[in-house]
Amino acid sequence: MSNPIAEAIQRSRGLTARLKQLDGLEIYGELMQAAAALQESLSEALILNATSAEDKLTLLDRVQRLTEENKDLKDWHAESREYQLEDLGYGCFVQSYKPTVEPSKPPHWACTNCFSNLKISILQNKLRSGFQCPSCKFELPGHLVGSKLPR
Ligand SMILES: [Zn+2]
Repeated sequence: MSNPIAEAIQRSRGLTARLKQLDGLEIYGELMQAAAALQESLSEALILNATSAEDKLTLLDRVQRLTEENKDLKDWHAESREYQLEDLGYGCFVQSYKPTVEPSKPPHWACTNCFSNLKISILQNKLRSGFQCPSCKFELPGHLVGSKLPR
């Protein structure tokens, strides 16, 4: 794999050597030819430098995105540890809020579907008709919940 910065440095050294050669040229045509070659080499070096700068910006952007994703995953991991999968019977499951330290939220259930997608969505009580997830619209019928409520 080539290194654009190293190539640009190498090219600039070549340009310096060519400039030294121009001192000895006496024929106008040769001078113009050398100037054109010098200009072309300079353009290539500038393009390489710009490409390298673009690559660097792309990498910095990626590092920033990965840092944010890492922080989000750490936050998710810390928050998800306060939930336990609870079997309500009849194949109905919820993520029940069970904090290990001083609770920061009231007792509640979270949607298992959203939980598996790294999102905590609190099931909303629809009174007699059961619970519903406000995000994915999962419904937990009231007759399955019975007298169980989040504690
Ligand atoms: Zn949901």
